[in-house]
Amino acid sequence: MSTAETKNKETRGFQSEVKQLLHLMIHSLYSNKEIFLRELISNASDAADKLRFQALSNSELYQGDADLGVKLSFDAEKNTLTVSDNGIGMSRDDVIEHLGTIAKSGTKEFFAKLSEEQSKDSQLIGQFGVGFYSAFIVADAVTVRTRAAGVPSDQAVQWHSAGEGDYTIEDITKETRGTDIVLHMREEGKEFLSEWRLRDVISKYSDHIGIPVTIWALERDDEGKETEQGKWEQINKAQALWTRNKSDIKDEEYQEFYKHVSHDFADPLVWSHNRVEGKNDYTSLLYIPAKAPWDMMNRDHKSGLKLYVQRVFIMDDAEQFMPSYLRFVRGLIDSNDLPLNVSREILQDNKVTQSLRGACTKRVLTMLERMAKNDQEKYQAFWKEFGLVMKEGPAEDMANKEKVAGLLRFASTDVDSAEQTVSLASYVERMKEGQDKIYYLTADSYAAAKNSPHLEQFKAKGIEVVLMFDRIDEWLMNYLTEFDGKQFQSITKAGLDLSKFEDEAEKEKQKETEQEFKTVVERTQTYLGDRVKEVRTTFKLASTPAVVVTDDFEMGTQMAKLLEAAGQEVPEVKYIFEINPEHELVKRMADEADEEAFGRWVEVLLGQAMLAERGSMTDPSQFLGAINKLLAKV
Ligand code: ADP
Repeated sequence: MSTAETKNKETRGFQSEVKQLLHLMIHSLYSNKEIFLRELISNASDAADKLRFQALSNSELYQGDADLGVKLSFDAEKNTLTVSDNGIGMSRDDVIEHLGTIAKSGTKEFFAKLSEEQSKDSQLIGQFGVGFYSAFIVADAVTVRTRAAGVPSDQAVQWHSAGEGDYTIEDITKETRGTDIVLHMREEGKEFLSEWRLRDVISKYSDHIGIPVTIWALERDDEGKETEQGKWEQINKAQALWTRNKSDIKDEEYQEFYKHVSHDFADPLVWSHNRVEGKNDYTSLLYIPAKAPWDMMNRDHKSGLKLYVQRVFIMDDAEQFMPSYLRFVRGLIDSNDLPLNVSREILQDNKVTQSLRGACTKRVLTMLERMAKNDQEKYQAFWKEFGLVMKEGPAEDMANKEKVAGLLRFASTDVDSAEQTVSLASYVERMKEGQDKIYYLTADSYAAAKNSPHLEQFKAKGIEVVLMFDRIDEWLMNYLTEFDGKQFQSITKAGLDLSKFEDEAEKEKQKETEQEFKTVVERTQTYLGDRVKEVRTTFKLASTPAVVVTDDFEMGTQMAKLLEAAGQEVPEVKYIFEINPEHELVKRMADEADEEAFGRWVEVLLGQAMLAERGSMTDPSQFLGAINKLLAKV
């Protein structure tokens, strides 16, 4: 047998996404190169967590035989930096899976986006998380030697790559459990081959890590010169951050810890750290990120908190502690009430889980309320990133509906901007004397909403209307029926009645006009037959001759479009056709004695109204034919 065979050595190509990641990372994270240490130490700490967790059910793996920790050492002559841990380690299959591919779905799309927006690469890559591969920012080759917990020393593996197209993998003997990562430094990475530089970076990034991070420090003689003698020296506090007293923790420490748990590069917007004793005994540390994760809207986006039980790490992405509309929240929960052998299945319908979920949800909502009150600019930044997800709240979380509604932001006729800055509370404050409803309009876009003919009478009467144009809004409004005791009223519904804002003389005049107009309404109804539900006079329009509205309890246009787009079969919406008797065109229609010509006017007005309402019409040719005949007579 040749040595190659005994060593079981093979060369394998990286998945193409890994190649792309390596290339982009080396070029765009260049100015932030020290983060590789944060990433590697973070992985080592996770490896220790995983070992402790597995030992809960298999005590063979770890009996407290050695303190779990991370060790850093360097060799300036050989130009290497080594990061070692005695955590869970990796098998050959693990290595191939974790250090040769990226398992996250949607990665291809992510990279397609990256190359289009070169300038933002470093920020985007930060949201994506680079982890282990960040070693290649400072190293031109990396060797990983790893032995999985519970396997004999001769079943360890070595991985080696120069970060280009491929890597090699072979069997080796390794005396100790865990992983050594040896970085062969590039010219630009040499600054890290210094005790002081390492101390500096470690204390910056790793103080909050729960296991000791030590470096090999050379002892100094009386004159301060390094000797050949050395010893391991602990650099960080090695106490899990959330177990410390709030008052002893600096903001920077909270921020660094966030980066460890979230794999995000940016600082969080806000956080909330709480220890609770009593019925439930737990600590929670919850963060709101500044940026939405790149895959937040993907169906298989991983969300949830890290779960610890009595300070032992149990699982990542425990989504049971947060409702889905708060899936952007990062952080952890450390419970003293759950059993150590808790599984996802047990968590699912567990009293403790439910009570913690309720408490964590309240905490996040309170944190957001506070932010909205104290720092509007920050809240606006939050809303831009997470507003769409927050809009899922009222449907999902009945218990906190009013609270969530208070956090929503919309555009409105009160501000001349598509930006969603108006809260329902501020709308209610501005309501007119006698107004008891919150008026809103849903449309396809801000432009369509802003220019809707339905707004004309609101403008005339000075009543504010909430403008909604996110796809989810129509659906949201099925669940959001009132706020602060005021009902919501869509302004495209037939039940809309603003007569209380009109004076008696006006009403009297309208009644008269309506009477005179009766025959026109009847003629229109006769012409249209069952193409519409009803024809009637309206006084709510100014520059528009006619509109269509739907009955209060019937499906509205936006909802029908939403369902159609989702491929559902939707019954045809039956509209009520409302005509403005004071409009020039309507007056001309009323004067038309010939029924055929009258019908053409009806076609044109109805066509217009449908176009304004739906953005399209079912039979454009009929509409165009009618228009052309009318024009020919001009
Ligand atoms: P992430 O940590 O975000 O999952 P990484 O690229 O940093 O991504 O690492 C990929 C995987 O490789 C990890 O999830 C882990 O399973 C494995 N891994 C990395 N470093 C270590 C280590 N020091 N010990 C054990 N496993 C590790």
